[in-house]
Formats: sequence, structure tokens, C-alpha cells
Amino acid sequence: MHLFQYRKGELYAEDVPVRRLAEEFGTPLYIYSYNTLLSHFKAYEDAFDSLPHIVCFALKANSNAAIVRLLAKNGGGADVVSGGELFRALKAGIPAEKIVYAGVGKTEEEIRYALKSGILMFNVESEDELLQIDRIAGTMKVKAPIALRINPDIDPQTHPYISTGLKKHKFGIPIEDALQYYGLANSLKNIKIVGIHKHIGSQLTKVSPFVDALKRILLLVDELKRQGIIIDYLDIGGGLGITYRDETPPDPAQLAKNILPLLKGRKLTIVLEPGRSIAGNAGILVTKTLYLKNGHEKKFVIVDAGMNDLIRPSIYGAYHHIQPVIKNRRNKIVADIVGPICESGDFLAKDREIPNVKKGEYLAVMSAGAYGFTMSSNYNSRPKAVEVMVKGRRYALIRKRETYHDIIKGEAIPEFV
Ligand SMILES: *Cc1c(COP(=O)(O)O)cnc(C)c1O
Repeated sequence: MHLFQYRKGELYAEDVPVRRLAEEFGTPLYIYSYNTLLSHFKAYEDAFDSLPHIVCFALKANSNAAIVRLLAKNGGGADVVSGGELFRALKAGIPAEKIVYAGVGKTEEEIRYALKSGILMFNVESEDELLQIDRIAGTMKVKAPIALRINPDIDPQTHPYISTGLKKHKFGIPIEDALQYYGLANSLKNIKIVGIHKHIGSQLTKVSPFVDALKRILLLVDELKRQGIIIDYLDIGGGLGITYRDETPPDPAQLAKNILPLLKGRKLTIVLEPGRSIAGNAGILVTKTLYLKNGHEKKFVIVDAGMNDLIRPSIYGAYHHIQPVIKNRRNKIVADIVGPICESGDFLAKDREIPNVKKGEYLAVMSAGAYGFTMSSNYNSRPKAVEVMVKGRRYALIRKRETYHDIIKGEAIPEFV
């Protein structure tokens, strides 16, 4: 479900014409739908209503303050993977006790910051990290709440770059070593075991990998109990896919239907970490056609959004639906839709059939709300795009377009140059 629909041949974001926003704010422009975000979030809340649970939005999918505030106001928590994301989550009003912190490379500074903030738990990814957290907590005279991130060795059947739950991946602790690591954690004075965590990958389009991974984790929870180690929080990660093209991923209700029976009768609080499935289809990237170029072998539609604005096509070969903001009846063409960046890898679509666009016309790159702006950069010294949120007929700027001065901010020229 999303609220970017055509009305009389013109694309709307909720009740606002996309063209109006493009004209007012310029392009490239990210537009997010408030009500789409909220309904995606509520779908999780409703699906897991029968159990104690926390929906911790994965900030790396989209960390704009307005979006995080929206979720915070509706009871959401946060899954963060850096000190910067922790800062954003707290600033946006997420209570510390609803924040979980994953990532293989937490620095000493970041660990101190998270301990000082009083987060729900660290999702610990290695023995070294566990010992480091214990040591730092000791110097701060606090107990660090932790879960171990367990790598269940399940193939999520998704793109290799967004798979995380196999033995060959850098994430988590191999499941066969889990008991030993929990034993170690239990022996550390400044560590408090509160949970167990898994996250096997992103853009999952089947339920079975979730179920298989969860079964393995629950066997472990039972074994830990026999050894006197009680798990309160079961963090099942994120990863539900969305429809970019023709995928039919399970929705939160289907996920819940398949996994709730496994959790019945257990005194566990479920933590979920959805990112893409909340923000992905709640945002679009609007771009303007700059030039049309007919090569000998290919046609190119050159637009003003590049890989620095949306890198998913370039690095994952990801598909994003691209459609005109104002529909036309002209013949279709097959073209590469490319950005202005000086890289052959700078494209939004290859060999794509699209209605014949003209110079100056706007195109909407769909499903760009997750891993869009957050992965954007200033490559080629291009200012980052502007972001706008729409709610019904209302809309507001939620991030100014960067200026050239923003780009060079912080640079300095030493005297010896
Ligand atoms: C990226 C990530 C998520 C979110 O994944 P989605 O596929 O966007 O739902 C959740 N948990 C962890 C630990 C992650 O790294």
C-alpha cells in the first residue's frame, strides 16, 4: 500500500500534485507520505498486538528527523548501528529504553555514549566486542544490557550484498558457538544478558527463512534456560521485502501468522527491526529530464538525479519503477535513464521501456523511501537532495537542499599549502 497514485493522469503524493512540489522545491526531490509511513508502522503494531513487542525502526533505511519523530510519537523504537544514529533517534524523541544497537564495529566512544544514554540493549556481534563492552561498563560502574547477535546460517534468498545470516558473513556469532559465548557473557561482571538477536538479511520475499531461523534461535533459548540463562527480549530483526517490481513479499500480518504460533506460551518481548518495509514504498525521488541523447546503440534519458542521490541501481543492480509525473500518450521508447555523474555506473535504469519523455518533464523514481537519501553522497560535489513530507493536503520541507557552502563546510587549507 502506498499513497502515490495518479489522478486524471497526474501523479499525486497523498492529496498534493507531485508537479507542484517539484516546481516549488526543485529537483532532485525526495517526497515522503506521512500516512503511508504510519500505515506501514501500524501494520506491525497490529500484527504483533497479542504479544509484548517493540517495533524498532531501522534508522539506516531513512533517518530524517521528521520520519523518526512520526514513528516515535506512535510508540516506535529504533534500531541503530552507529553513534550518529543513536543521536538522531534520541533527538527525534525515541525513548532510550526502546533503542537497540547493532553493528560489528562499535567504537569505545560509541559504547560509552550508548551506556550513558541507557539503551535497551547492545546487539553484540563478537567476543572482542563483548569483552570491550564489559570493560567500558566496568569503568563507568554500570551494567551493560546485551543480546548476542546469532548468525543462524540460514540463506535469506535475497541479493548477496544484503544477505547477512550465513556463515560466510561478517555479522553475528556462529550459532554453534552461541552457548559458549552466552556462558562467557554470563561470567562477566559488568554484563547483563537480556536478549537474543538475529537479522538474516534484507528484501526477503519469503516467510520460510524467517521461520527456519527463528526455530533455530528458539532451540537455543530453551537450551540457555536449562543452563539458567533467561532471555527476556527476542529480537527477530528486520528484512521484510517490498514490491519494487513484481515481488509479492509477505506483509507483517503474514509474518506474524507464521511465527506467533512458535512464540505462544513464552514469556518473551518481541523486538522487530523493520526498515525497508516501513519506509521503502513511502517515498519517491522526483527528477527532471535534462537531455535526450540518441547514441548509435542506445537511447539515453539524462536526468538531474544521479547515483549520489540514489545508489541502489548502481551497487545492487536494483530495480526501481520509473514513471512520468504527468502521463502522456506518446509512443514508448527503450532507454537507459542516467544521471549527471561522471561514472558509467551512474544510472537509475537500464534498457527501460518508458513513455517518450521530453526535456524538462519530471519523472518519479518509485519505492525510494528506504536506502535512498541515507545512502546519498556529495560525489561530484553535488548538493544532497531536498526532502519534503506530505500529509493529506499539507506538506512541508523536512530537509533543505544543500548549498555549495554546505558541501565545503569543515574543509580547511593549511598555511603550508
Ligand atoms: C539493516 C538492518 C535492519 C533493517 O533491515 P530492513 O531490510 O530494512 O528491514 C534491521 N536490523 C539490522 C541489524 C540491520 O542491519
